[in-house]
Amino acid sequence: MSSATTAAGLALDTPLEFVPGIGPRQAGLFSARGLAQIEDLLSYLPFRYEDRSRISQIAALEAGESVTIQAQVRSFQLLRTRGGMQMARLRAGDGTGELECIWYHAGWLRDRFQAGQWVALYGKPELEGRQWRLQHPEFQILRPGPLPAGPDSLKLGRIVPIYNSLGEISSGKLRLAIARALRALPAELPEILPAGLCERLRLPPRRAAFEQVHFPAPGMPLEQLQAARTPGHLRLILEELFFLQTGLEIKRQRAQRQPGIAILPSAEIRERLRQLLPFRPTPDQKQAMREIAADLGRGRPMRRLLQGDVGSGKTIVALEAAVMAIGNGYQAALMAPTQILAEQHYYYARRLLPGYRVALITSAARRARSEPEPELAIGTQALLEDHARISRLALVIVDEQHRFGVLQRLQLMRQGNLAPHLLVMTATPIPRTLALAFYGDLDTSLIRQRPPGRLPIRTRIVPRGREPEMYAFLRRQLARGRQAYVVCPVIEESEKLDLVPALEMERQLRAQFPEFRVGLLHGRLANEEKSAVMQSFQRGELNLLVTTTVIEVGVDVPNATLMIIHQAERFGIAQLHQLRGRIGRPQPPAAGASRAFCFLVPGEEITPAAEQRLLAVEGSEDGFELAEMDLKLRGPGEIFGTRQSGLPEFAIAQPGRDQDLLELAHAEARTWWRHAGREEQRRLLGIVRARWQRRYGLVEVG
Ligand code: ADP
Ligand code: MG
Repeated sequence: MSSATTAAGLALDTPLEFVPGIGPRQAGLFSARGLAQIEDLLSYLPFRYEDRSRISQIAALEAGESVTIQAQVRSFQLLRTRGGMQMARLRAGDGTGELECIWYHAGWLRDRFQAGQWVALYGKPELEGRQWRLQHPEFQILRPGPLPAGPDSLKLGRIVPIYNSLGEISSGKLRLAIARALRALPAELPEILPAGLCERLRLPPRRAAFEQVHFPAPGMPLEQLQAARTPGHLRLILEELFFLQTGLEIKRQRAQRQPGIAILPSAEIRERLRQLLPFRPTPDQKQAMREIAADLGRGRPMRRLLQGDVGSGKTIVALEAAVMAIGNGYQAALMAPTQILAEQHYYYARRLLPGYRVALITSAARRARSEPEPELAIGTQALLEDHARISRLALVIVDEQHRFGVLQRLQLMRQGNLAPHLLVMTATPIPRTLALAFYGDLDTSLIRQRPPGRLPIRTRIVPRGREPEMYAFLRRQLARGRQAYVVCPVIEESEKLDLVPALEMERQLRAQFPEFRVGLLHGRLANEEKSAVMQSFQRGELNLLVTTTVIEVGVDVPNATLMIIHQAERFGIAQLHQLRGRIGRPQPPAAGASRAFCFLVPGEEITPAAEQRLLAVEGSEDGFELAEMDLKLRGPGEIFGTRQSGLPEFAIAQPGRDQDLLELAHAEARTWWRHAGREEQRRLLGIVRARWQRRYGLVEVG
C-alpha cells in the first residue's frame, strides 16, 4: 500500500489523484502519459525558462526587451476584423505612461477584463508610432497591491518554467499541477542517495532540487538553467544516473561471483593460435586478446564488450577466444544479426580454422540431429533456439550487439546453468558515455587502430547535376580492374515495391556499362542465390554490385574500392559509416590501390538535418567521432531505436548533454557499492530494484 494513505501525508510515491487540486480526471490524463506518481510529475522538467522577473514602468520601456508591466485597465474591447476574426484590444496605464495590448483570435478573452482592474502583463514591447504595444502578452489579473511572489504568481514577475505540453495538458497546466504537488509535499523528503555524497558533491536535498528546477529563485542565471546545470538539475540528473549505474554495478558483481568455466591456455593452444593467425595482430588487438584470455582463465564468467570501428579486426580476436575454448574441450557459439553476416563469419572461420568442426546454424540451415556437435557454431538468432543442443558451450560471442538490444543480452546470459563466457562485439562505435550507460555491466576492450594496409576513404557528396562525372570516374576505375558497390536504400526488404529502385538501378547500369558485368544482391533473394552472387563478386567475376543494405556488415572484398550510395540522406550517420567500411579493406598485393572512394548521392528533397549528417560523414573517417556527432544530432533513442532495442529510457538525464555526469555517476556507484556496509547496501538495493522495475520494467537486478 502506498504511503499516500498513511496519516503522515503525501510522499513522492503518492498517486497524483491525491494531490489537492489535481482530481481523478486530470490524474488520469497524466497517467496516460506515463506520469502516475508525484515523483513522475516532478521529474518532468521544463525544457526552457523565461525570465519574466524584470518589472518595468511604461515610461522606461525599451523595444525588444521582454518585461513584466503592472498597470490598470483603462478600456477593453472585442473587435471583429474585416476577415471576421475576433481581435481584442486592451489599454492600460501605470501612471508613467499608457500602452496597448492586442490579441488575435481572442473570443476566449470575452468578459475577461474590466476598467479599473490591475493586471500584470508580460511581453515584448514594440513602438507603434508613439504608442507602446504588446502583442499576445501573458497576463494575470492582480488583486490590489504589489505583484504577488511565490506560487501565487506562477507565470509573471519571476523566472517561469516552460514545459513541453503533454497531449491536452498545456505548459500552464503542468506548471500549476507541479506547484500543487510541491505544496502538498512535506518540507523535507527522505534522502535516498548514499550518506555524504550530497555534501561532497555540494548537491541540494531532493525537495530543494525540485523547487529549484521548477520554480527557480529570482536572480538564478538563465544560462545555467537552460543548460540544466543549476545545483538542483545536477542533483536530479546525478540521482537518476546513480541508481542506473548502481544497478548495473550490482549485476556486474553478481555475475563475477557466479562460478564459471576456467579456460586456460596450453602450449599446444598457443602453438595453434600462432599458426592460425594469417597476419600480425595490431597492438590493440593483442591487448584485447590479453584481456580476454585473462577473463577466460579466471573461473568466472567473462562479461566483455569488444568495441572497434568497422574493419578494425574484431573477428580474429573473437575467433582466438573460440580456439581457446575449443582447445579446452568446450564449444563456442558466434551469433550475428543477419543471415548474410552469419555466412560471412562462417566462411571466414572455415578459412581460418581448417580442421575445426564449424557449423552454420540459421533458420534456413538447421543442424541435423544426427550430425556431431560442432566445435564452433555460427548463426543467427536461430542459434538461441538450438543452443540447448550445444552441450558444452563455454563461450558465446555476439556480433553487432546494438541490433540485439540489452534485454536480449540479459536473456542470453540467463540461459543454461553452465554460465558461459560472453563476448559482445560492436562495430557501431558507441561513445564512451553510452557504453557506460548501457553496457556499464560489461568490461570493455577497445580496438582503436586499424590493421595496416587499410586504404583511406575519400568521401564526397555529389552535387545535383554532377552524376555524369561520377559515372565517368566509375568507368575509369572499373577499367583499371577495381570493383564497386552501388547501394540503393530499401527500407523494408520484405516489401516487393521497395525493391523497385534497386531493380531499376541494375537495369540502368547494365545499359550504361555494357562492357562490364553487373550483379544484384538484395534481401529477398533466396539464401543460395545471395551466396552465389556474393561469391562471384568476391571472385571478381562481377565488376559492379547493386545492393541494398544487406551488405552493411561483414562483407569483405578487398578489391572493391568504390561505393556509390544513392539517396544517402535516408541513412543515418552510423549506417553510412558502416556501409563505406566495406571499401578500403586491406589490399592484396596485386590490386595495389592507394585510396577508396565513396560517393553520397542525395535524393530530391533533403532536410537540413539530413544534410548535416551527410556533411559529418564526408568530413570524418573516425567512427568514434561520428558516433559522438550522431549522439549530439539525434539523441541516443533514435540511434538505437529506443524501445525495441530495450534501452533504458531516462526521465531527466540526457546522455548527449550529460556525459560528464554519467561518468561521475559511474565512478561514484562503483566505489560506493564496494565500500558500503551491509545495512546501507540493503537499503540501496531496495531503491535500485524499485526504480529499475518502474523505469525499465526489469525485475532482475541481482
Ligand atoms: P570488423 O572489426 O569490422 O569485424 P574484421 O574482423 O572483419 O573487422 O576485419 C577486417 C579485415 O581486416 C579482415 O579482412 C581481416 O582479415 C583483416 N585484418 C584484421 N586484423 C588484421 C591485421 N592485424 N593485419 C592485417 N589485416 C587484418
Ligand atoms: Mg565484423
